[in-house]
Parts: sequence; structure tokens; C-alpha cells
Amino acid sequence: TFDLLVIGGGPAGASSAIYSARKGIKTGVVADRFGGQVQDTMAIENFISVKATEGPKLVQSLEAHVNDYDVDVMNGQRVKNIIEAEVNGGLITVELENGASLQTRSAILATGARWREMNVPGEQEYRGKGVAYCPHCDGPLFKGKSVAVIGGGNSGIEAAIDLAGIVEHVTVLEFDSKLRADAVLQDKARSMDNISIIVNAQTTEVLGNGKHVTGLNYLCRESQQTKQLALAGIFVQIGLVPNTQFLQGTVALNQRGEIITTSSGETNIPGVYAAGDATDSPYKQIIIAMGSGASAALGAFDYLIRTPEV
Ligand code: FAD
Repeated sequence: TFDLLVIGGGPAGASSAIYSARKGIKTGVVADRFGGQVQDTMAIENFISVKATEGPKLVQSLEAHVNDYDVDVMNGQRVKNIIEAEVNGGLITVELENGASLQTRSAILATGARWREMNVPGEQEYRGKGVAYCPHCDGPLFKGKSVAVIGGGNSGIEAAIDLAGIVEHVTVLEFDSKLRADAVLQDKARSMDNISIIVNAQTTEVLGNGKHVTGLNYLCRESQQTKQLALAGIFVQIGLVPNTQFLQGTVALNQRGEIITTSSGETNIPGVYAAGDATDSPYKQIIIAMGSGASAALGAFDYLIRTPEV
């Protein structure tokens, strides 16, 4: 039996585990893949106090830091269900896909999210070589170059406005016949002379030279003609999907599937907290995930010391 079981081994989960173990309580981590999205990240230049690093290197440091404490890390394990305690202060059951189940007095859900992909040829090959998902992270790598933003919703148009201040030119490609972003964002984007917007555009292929992105092909859905753009970067902004499907029906989620949390990370279930990209907190970043992991662990500790064990 754990005092606190963390589900997820990304920056939010690692931070939760360290904060928890430092309280001297029995802490465990169940992670499908320790490191999470950071494993897939090349350059990281906004993890404050570390000027530049790479994802796998940061994951090694996270792992070493967690292993410095008495934390039971169960890597390569997926959680399929969590069951609320029957009575207040009772044990929460966490069921794994391998059939095992774990019991804990409190839990932190830190299962992160994944960017929705275009699923077109070239996207995987050039991921991190021009195909990017995070303008806050990778925008500065394209200083003075031409990029495209795929998606004309709020995140796409916000990305275009953000990138327009850094890069030479931004082309927004929207599949639909009109943008879906809020009018105020559309007006702002249209007022910037280095943003152009193409609607009815279905991206069909990422083009590259073997080393990095050189452009893309898109189908003009009106004329049914394939057109080409020369680009150094492609920012895919067609949605961030939280890894919370397994919580449906137990933990309260918002319309986007994000876990609804209070400022100390509480969910609707007593003793169950949440942190990082899986939650409804705005702005999905490593430093934010770590901060919310710390809050959730302190919140859970507060719960444990105030709730009599049954
Ligand atoms: P994640 O990192 O997504 O980790 C989730 C964890 O939960 C993983 O261990 C996963 O295996 C596990 N998990 C999921 N479901 C289950 C389950 N059912 N059972 C058990 N375990 C489960 N941010 C920056 O600040 N700077 C950057 O430069 C930057 N660049 C990025 C580049 C890329 C390509 C990507 C994809 C993201 C980037 N980000 C960057 C965003 C950053 O990686 C995320 O905000 C951060 O990793 C979120 O941390 P997290 O712990 O909430 O979730």
C-alpha cells in the first residue's frame, strides 16, 4: 500500500514523486514511458536555469533525481482504471493493464498529453527537423525563415501571431473554408503583414531533403489542385489530446478531456490530485508541469495529514 501513487513519469510525475518522497511518505510512480513527451524533444531552451539541453538528457537527470529518493518506480506499466475509495480516507485502487492492482491512500494523475498529428507522409521523418508542435519551444529556431502553421483554430492563430514576431513569414493553412479562431485573434493576425492565410487547404505531404524540411504540398479543396510551399518549418496546431480516456466516468474532465483541478491540484475525487498537461491548467510546458506536480504533491500531503486513516 502506498501513501501516494503517481501515475505518469513525465516532468509533472517526477516532480510530484520527489516532493512526496521528501515528506517521508511511501511513494510510487507508475509510468508507461518514464520521461513522457520530454523523451521526444530535441532542443530545450526554456527550462529556466539550464540555458540549453536536450530531451533525453533532461530525462536522465529527472530519473537520477527521482532515484535519489526512496521511490518505487514501475516503468513500462499502463494504468487502465482508478477506483475511488469506498469511504472517506479509505484506499484508492489503481488497476494496471497487466492485471495487477495497487492500493494507495492518495494519487496524482500526471498522464500528460500528445499533439494531434496530421498523419501525412514526411511528418514522422521530419519531426524535430522542421516539423514542430510547440511555438513557445521551437519558434526561435526558425528566426528569419518562412514557416507554416497548420490549423486555424485559436492555438493555430495564436501560434501564427507569436511566430510572426520571430520568423520572416508565416502561412496559416486551414482545412475548413473559414478560420475557427476567435474574431479578435483573426483580426490581429490579418493586421500583421507577414502572415498569410489559406483556407480550404488540406496538407498532404511534408517535403524535405533528407536532413530537414524544405516545404509542403497541400490540396486546394476548391480547385482540387495540389500546390507547394517552400518552408523551413511546419508548426502543427490541430489540437493537444490529454491522455485521460481511461479516467472517463470516474474523474471529472472538461470538454477537451482535461482533468478539472483546483489551484492545489485537487480533482473531484477525495485524495486524487492531478498535475501537468493532462489537466485544465493553461499553457503546457515542462516548467509549468513541474510546478503543478509540486503543488499537487503538497496538496496530497495536506490531504493525508488531515484525513484520518481508516
Ligand atoms: P508528459 O510529458 O506527457 O508525461 C506523461 C507521462 O504519463 C509519461 O510518462 C507517460 O508514459 C505516462 N502515461 C500516460 N498515460 C498513462 C497511463 N494510462 N498509465 C501509466 N502512465 C501513463 N516544453 C517546454 O517547456 N520546452 C520545450 O522546449 C518543449 N518542447 C517540446 C517538444 C515536443 C516535440 C513536445 C511533444 C513537447 C514539448 N514541450 C516542451 C512540452 C512538454 O514536453 C510538456 O509540457 C511536458 O512534458 C508535460 O509534462 P507531463 O508530465 O504533464 O506529461
